[in-house]
Amino acid sequence: MMQRAVFSRGALLAQNTAAALESSLAPRSAPLLMRLDRSMSSLTIPPPASLLRPLEVPNRYLFGPGPSNVPPRVLAAGGRPIIGHLHPEMYEIMNDIKKGIQYIFQTENNMTISMSGSGHAAMECAVFNTVEPGESVLVAVNGIWGERVAEIAERMGANVHKMVKTPGQLFTNTEIEQAMAKHKPVLFFLTHGESSAGLCHPMDGIGDICQKHNCLFLVDTVASMGAAPIFMDHQKIDILYTGSQKALNAPPGTAPISFNERACDKMFNRKTKPVSYLLDMTHLSNYWGCDGQTVRAYHHTGPVSGFFSLRESLAILAEKGLEESWRQHKELAAYLYKGLEDLGLTLFIRDKDLRLPSVTTIAIPKGYNWRELLVYMMKNHNIEMTGGLGPSIGMVMRIGLMGYNCKKSNADMALHALEDALKNCKKSKV
Ligand code: PMP
Repeated sequence: MMQRAVFSRGALLAQNTAAALESSLAPRSAPLLMRLDRSMSSLTIPPPASLLRPLEVPNRYLFGPGPSNVPPRVLAAGGRPIIGHLHPEMYEIMNDIKKGIQYIFQTENNMTISMSGSGHAAMECAVFNTVEPGESVLVAVNGIWGERVAEIAERMGANVHKMVKTPGQLFTNTEIEQAMAKHKPVLFFLTHGESSAGLCHPMDGIGDICQKHNCLFLVDTVASMGAAPIFMDHQKIDILYTGSQKALNAPPGTAPISFNERACDKMFNRKTKPVSYLLDMTHLSNYWGCDGQTVRAYHHTGPVSGFFSLRESLAILAEKGLEESWRQHKELAAYLYKGLEDLGLTLFIRDKDLRLPSVTTIAIPKGYNWRELLVYMMKNHNIEMTGGLGPSIGMVMRIGLMGYNCKKSNADMALHALEDALKNCKKSKV
């Protein structure tokens, strides 16, 4: 059932080379061959046998929290010929990406770029550039992503204060304002789509509180962008980032990020240099043509193919329209909730208005071993779903249907696989 794909000319070459090697060496005995090889080569480490075989990648249904399946158009974009990362055509493509990010973030911010790296690169970029060692940072922790940002800020020497809740719980605006008045942070972090818990956190009013307390508002939308409404400018979010591999349906490895004027004021008027050269926004803003300079200097070599794919995934979302994408995710999520409840399962986030439409969390059904359920679905249905992450491990199982995968037929497949697993993993009941 599992299809095997053989990729690329390189792989064919390796296949041919392996075949040629095999036939030319067939009559010789192994010890003689080894002696001959040693005498003819200066290498002590032979080429790994596994690399002389063709690349094999299974087709899988990626119904976990990401990466998600990538549509053929985006895959094809990544297979276009490489051009120089500083060629004028590449600048055009980067400009398209910038406009696409401004659209999906709903922002007019000039300082809008994509990181050459995954969501974590954007997290580190946001913190490293806007915070100096010793400054106070406030982090809302209600799942793994707050924990991560707190650790990133601690590592660069910030004075980190955490507001901690159990996974899936929210923070009221009053609680946030009280903590802000107490700790006087320069930066407040909140996750919009908490993918480890399946919560979509309300955003209204928090930007105003941050402005009142002269604090920058940093929001993570890696798991929610394109699937749930967010309005960077209107909601007064100072720094917003996302990732390529979820509802955007590009391969992992690029991460859009945007900074408003308040964030730029802070990050370009600092006393110390950011700890990371690669993530320094003075260089990245020049690379992305955001600093008003006519010449873009070499800083690092951007992931050219990754940017092609990202450009195309943003084009697909622009063609569909953000509001239509939000509507589709919400509608499919409601269909999935009903199917899960019909199977007797309990949704982890009780209030349906607070559920993240892209990643649905279900409470682990009583008496089942969640790992066995996941392994069963992978083995028998070729479907990936996942368990919890960080503090939600052992609490939830997660189903992600986002972007390209946001289809009723996929929800039906996921529900069928779960039903089958629940029936057949009875043995694992404890
Ligand atoms: N934030 C959230 C909400 C996420 O879901 C993820 C990825 N699971 C990340 C950040 C980190 O992104 P990446 O794995 O691309 O570094």
